[in-house]
Amino acid sequence: MSNEQPEILSFDTLDLQPETTKALEKMGFTTPTPIQMQAIPAVRDGYDVIAKAPTGTGKTCAFGIPLLECLDLNCTDVQAVVVCPTRELCLQITDDLRNLAAFRPGVHIVPVYGGQSMNTQINAMKKKPQIVVATPGRLLDLMGRRVVWLGNVYTVVLDEADEMLKMGFIRDVRKILHATPADTQVVMFSATISRDVEDVAWEYQRDAVQIEVESKGDNRPDIRQYALHSSGSQRLTDMLKIIDALDLHRVMVFCNRKSTVRQVCAQLKRQGKSADCLHGDISQGQRNQVMAGYRKGKFEILVATDVAARGIDVDDVEAVFNYDIPDENEYYLHRIGRTGRAKRHGISVTFWSVGDEFRMRDVRRRTHSDITDVTLGPDGKFVPVPTEEEAE
Ligand code: ADP
Ligand code: MG
Repeated sequence: MSNEQPEILSFDTLDLQPETTKALEKMGFTTPTPIQMQAIPAVRDGYDVIAKAPTGTGKTCAFGIPLLECLDLNCTDVQAVVVCPTRELCLQITDDLRNLAAFRPGVHIVPVYGGQSMNTQINAMKKKPQIVVATPGRLLDLMGRRVVWLGNVYTVVLDEADEMLKMGFIRDVRKILHATPADTQVVMFSATISRDVEDVAWEYQRDAVQIEVESKGDNRPDIRQYALHSSGSQRLTDMLKIIDALDLHRVMVFCNRKSTVRQVCAQLKRQGKSADCLHGDISQGQRNQVMAGYRKGKFEILVATDVAARGIDVDDVEAVFNYDIPDENEYYLHRIGRTGRAKRHGISVTFWSVGDEFRMRDVRRRTHSDITDVTLGPDGKFVPVPTEEEAE
């Protein structure tokens, strides 16, 4: 137990602009989250920031509010760029920022992402957006065609920063950062931030303010985590049993491979479940349709690869299944973090089979996760496996 004074969480103390306050009221937010309390003033004051806070604790508004409050509406150049790893997240952040800007006429926010027609995006840029939300590849493409110019950008946000600084993205992100003025504010947000990130961050940030909301107590996402020994086709049977026993209607299932995603989705449908799937080989139009359908509750189970693991915020996802153990430990946290968002309850179930014992132990240890080993009772309910001590 800590003796620290509880932090007073109030939007009043943040001295927000009336346009922001009105938007927050419209969105139904009455109290800021801890990361919002800490990050909003730092970002607004122009500091470079590296911020770590658990999944589902409102990081988008933590950078979105100061971005909007600092815009200069007399300037027609791009002033802020938000860079993120997936197309789905790009659209979601754009929506969130547009909601926050509901009372700021004249503010334009444009999403730039792969898979959408170039012409659509070139036309959108003609609106002279102040904020561009982008996946790196397409942004560089548009920069190359001189459709986007970052020479007057004063803030770059890297959402899911640790992912953006990994091998797959780092080269593109470097190019983007180099296209902005040398004194551009660089702001990084993620639920997981590794030492490597801090090293790269050090290159691009000056006197960065480090903010960390620890995942404990009230800030810990409320997710009951289970591990179930189940392999082969048994996994599907067990998943269906659990879904029926707990009467789940909003579920995400993560698989490591696209082929598994396809199979699991097809099998679920064959068993009469309403399911759809998301992975990198699906056309962009289809991907957008699937995400929109899932958000609206048009089907109950979304089966996906890790394209949907980071950042995606769908209201009230009740459960996350790890059909396979993720290849990377942090992805465990990101995947299960699709549930238990904004103080809601969630559950996660991770399937493991013989040979996975080491991986499971590693996930537990590295992510500091409290995962209960269970078997399934005949009614499909979880039965805790006695720990070694209890068994003795
Ligand atoms: P993160 O990026 O930390 O995973 P998000 O920014 O996606 O989290 O926010 C998670 C959810 O919490 C969203 O549905 C968002 O609308 C909601 N949210 C954000 N800030 C608040 C707040 N101050 N009060 C209530 N809900 C909030
Ligand atoms: Mg986020």
